[in-house]
Amino acid sequence: METAQTPSAPDVVVVGAGAAGIAAAHRLQALGCSVLVVEASDRIGGRAFTESNTFGFPFDHGCAWLQGPGDLPYIAAARSAGFTLIDHSDPPGALFSGDRPATPCEVAKYDQAGESLRQLLVSSQYDVAASSLVKFSDRWLAAAATWLSAMDHGVDLIELSSADVAVYGTYAVNALVKEGLGTLVAHVAKGLPVWTGTVVTGIDWSGPGVIVRTQKGDIRADAAVVTVSTGVISSGRIKFTPGLPVGVRQAFDDLPMGLLTKIALQTDGARFGLLENAFVTRAIDEPLPARSAFFLSFPIGFDLCVGFVGGSHAWEIEKAGEEAAIAFAIDELASMLGSDVRRHIRKGRMTNWGSNPWTRGAYAAARPGRHAARAVLSSPLGDRVFFAGEALGGAYPALLSGAHMSGEAAARQAAAILARNRRS
Ligand SMILES: Cc1cc2nc3c(=O)[nH]c(=O)nc-3n(C[C@H](O)[C@H](O)[C@H](O)COP(=O)(O)OP(=O)(O)OC[C@H]3O[C@@H](n4cnc5c(N)ncnc54)[C@H](O)[C@@H]3O)c2cc1C
Repeated sequence: METAQTPSAPDVVVVGAGAAGIAAAHRLQALGCSVLVVEASDRIGGRAFTESNTFGFPFDHGCAWLQGPGDLPYIAAARSAGFTLIDHSDPPGALFSGDRPATPCEVAKYDQAGESLRQLLVSSQYDVAASSLVKFSDRWLAAAATWLSAMDHGVDLIELSSADVAVYGTYAVNALVKEGLGTLVAHVAKGLPVWTGTVVTGIDWSGPGVIVRTQKGDIRADAAVVTVSTGVISSGRIKFTPGLPVGVRQAFDDLPMGLLTKIALQTDGARFGLLENAFVTRAIDEPLPARSAFFLSFPIGFDLCVGFVGGSHAWEIEKAGEEAAIAFAIDELASMLGSDVRRHIRKGRMTNWGSNPWTRGAYAAARPGRHAARAVLSSPLGDRVFFAGEALGGAYPALLSGAHMSGEAAARQAAAILARNRRS
């Protein structure tokens, strides 16, 4: 599908129409380069994907929170196009100890555990596995660690790099989008020349420019910006000619994909005493990694409880399939709210980023000790292949904002090098 006037011989081919590819394409155009975006799947947005068919209202399979610096263009784009942003910078919480609400004292313990865990990781001098820094004697600390490692980073604590936690920038914005964040991303991409349904199978950078090989034919250009996930690159699905230098290949392998799986449960309107937009968490009494789901209750007022499962447990859940995942999420909700919950669930849906061949996981997580791999990928190959994507998200790794910023940075780098080469 062509979504705008397609240049027959673009200056730059952008591989992937997610947030990074969209940002790169816009920036390249603004800098005077012609561009063509090629996208394997049949839609624009990548891991930003909203659909309304399942529940009759927008459900974000991928990113849902718009988080990042205040100058993120998505904020202005949302406002000018009339999207509804719901501030979530100070979310309500519902904490449970087994099947009863936590006491104020337990809530204070949980809040303190979360804060001290983060401080511990941020102040670590070395890039080590988070599990090596924390002694787990406390069920509230285990709950806070489950949000931080399995949900936020998509990996178990033993696979979480302390440096990955330490780099995070602050959020000037932290908001849910009523119409769906995926809808907003697709809106921002409007007007860009994108070929959807076009799988890139190879990138030949042996000559002065690049030949991007697709199942629909070759595209010649001066440069390529490659925004596919680290999981896609590591799978070898895109053949580089010549092959990736050893250090670059290693860097991709050092940034494997973590997994966050959402299991969304539609309710019949019952609210179980929970507030809208609240994080629902239980104490963890089993050893980590816990086989638990935590929830966001009734986001934006929709009749939905969105369960989150991350890390090794998410890979297991996805493999077990949607029916088993929904049964598990209902059990988890019932363990906190009581069995009566069961009769109020109308429908469920599980996301499947782990088995999606175009992502192969939710977001990259540096192997402990290998956080520096992120910086390795910010250097181009032969001044003509530039990498971007959430794994290169700087102070906002794994996030939409980081993906966007990495796309812009790669575009600036590419445009500067192309201009220099043309002058010489
Ligand atoms: C469940 C989940 C929840 C999340 N929640 C949040 C959140 O609340 N807030 C937040 O900021 N971030 C969140 N994220 C992360 C955020 O969605 C990603 O960081 C961001 O969307 C990644 O953008 P990207 O452009 O780097 O990659 P992608 O969006 O993956 O874009 C890359 C594109 O390349 C395409 N592609 C792959 N292989 C090929 C090929 N061979 N040829 C052509 N095209 C190819 C893919 O189809 C894809 O469209 C979440 C992610 C997941 C999965």
